[in-house]
Amino acid sequence: MSDNRKVIIIGSGPAGLTAAVYTARASLEPLLLEGEPSSTSDQPGGQLMLTTEVENFPGFPEGVMGPELMMRFREQAVRFGTEVRTEKVSRVDLSARPFGVWVGDPNSAEPTYTAEALIISTGAQSLLLGVERESELIGHGLSTCATCDGFFFRDHDIAVVGGGDSALEEAIFLTKFARSVTLVHRREELRASKIMQERAFANDKIKFLWNHVVESVSGDTKLEGVTVRNVITDETSELPVTGLFVAIGHKPNTDLFKGQLEMEESGYLVTGLAGGASTTNVEGVFACGDVQDHTYRQAITAAGSGCQAAIDAERWLEAQHG
Ligand code: NAP
Repeated sequence: MSDNRKVIIIGSGPAGLTAAVYTARASLEPLLLEGEPSSTSDQPGGQLMLTTEVENFPGFPEGVMGPELMMRFREQAVRFGTEVRTEKVSRVDLSARPFGVWVGDPNSAEPTYTAEALIISTGAQSLLLGVERESELIGHGLSTCATCDGFFFRDHDIAVVGGGDSALEEAIFLTKFARSVTLVHRREELRASKIMQERAFANDKIKFLWNHVVESVSGDTKLEGVTVRNVITDETSELPVTGLFVAIGHKPNTDLFKGQLEMEESGYLVTGLAGGASTTNVEGVFACGDVQDHTYRQAITAAGSGCQAAIDAERWLEAQHG
């Protein structure tokens, strides 16, 4: 028999945990499935677990460490009666209500849980280059998070891949530590905003390697080599760096919902379809946070949208049960 719940929240970043605080306070006894620890950015707590100091979350004038902020979110959700389980959802069935939610074997006939309403807050994760050994070298010279790992590259020569705002933000931040930062970009024009471009061009420590892509990375226990290829001449060369930061965009964690929820071509869930800001194309399924937002992507906007999802879910459940 499946375990039936009024509200299940999938994902435990600022959006999911805020939805949990609000649904718990509305006596909906939410179950929050927080995911399982992994090497990428879809771990419990979301992307803030990969940051150091968060300086722009209101209420923390001195700043707060990302993991500590998430621990506080979680404590607050639990205090009001949220049940948090460290489980990763393997499948959902949104074709009928109550919705089916599987943990573990996705082929098992019975879902692990059923839910009257579902709140999706599975977030997004950094895109990777797709070269061999890349995943294994994350945390060992290769990184997707300058604020987490920049400190380890004091006086090193390092590189950042990408030409968007993230790449330039990371490159500028990394000049606080590194001796030099080479920005490797596949074109000769940056995608980043003008103000970020001006800041990067004005920074003596940043060098630009135009029309190049990373061909391969090497190293057993730590990054030892980075080979780049000139996309015009096809020539390859070794980049003399000891650190590589990949900042080529993000991917929403929506594979679970393919074919069931409306999404943009980029995979972000489409919300706001039926009145409430968090509504999706399936009645009773709500989405909040980075999984449906590629514009703002801030902890505070994710938390705000989590609150909206909780209120939308509460009102919808009330309307169902009269
Ligand atoms: P983005 O704007 O999509 O830029 C991704 C960059 O990576 C592009 O320059 C792209 O090259 C390059 N790229 C993509 N795939 C690649 C690959 N496989 N190999 C090499 N290069 C690759 O992503 P983002 O920089 O993460 O920014 C996302 C959104 O957040 C944007 O709207 C941005 O303005 C916003 N943001 C704002 C700030 C800020 O204002 N402080 C900071 C961070 C992000 P092409 O240019 O050739 O496509």
